[in-house]
Amino acid sequence: MKSKPDPAEAAREVREIYGEWQLRPIDRNCTGLAACCRFKLTGRMPYLTRGEALVAARAWKASGRKEVIIPADGSCPFLHPHTGKCRIYDGRPFGCRTHYCAAAGGPAARNEVRDLIQRLEEIDARLGGNGAVNLPTAVREAMR
Ligand code: SF4
Repeated sequence: MKSKPDPAEAAREVREIYGEWQLRPIDRNCTGLAACCRFKLTGRMPYLTRGEALVAARAWKASGRKEVIIPADGSCPFLHPHTGKCRIYDGRPFGCRTHYCAAAGGPAARNEVRDLIQRLEEIDARLGGNGAVNLPTAVREAMR
């Protein structure tokens, strides 16, 4: 019989993947400019697998929040409106770390991240997901 997925274990695995990515000798330079976090300006937003959404939701809940609300300017719900800093930086999704920001070095090459994405997709499937979902929807679902 298939065992029930353990969200805590899935979140741990996702954080392990983030840690592995950080250790790869690939030139990235996120200085927290947050240009990539202004979805309305970029016309793009990160898509999250279920495990990533769990980690982001846990980070958001840990800061005392219960809801994921897109601000009027169309920025990421986790972007601080005054400081311009990511409020879940340590738990930010994989796309925010690898794919998303020109100032941080542009998208990582597919072959640099393929294995890690595969592992995120495996965790997603184990948690009953069916592929990545846009950030607000994914995290709202994970908050439930
Ligand atoms: S999760 Fe953080 S880094 Fe990613 S888009 Fe939102 S504010 Fe930016």
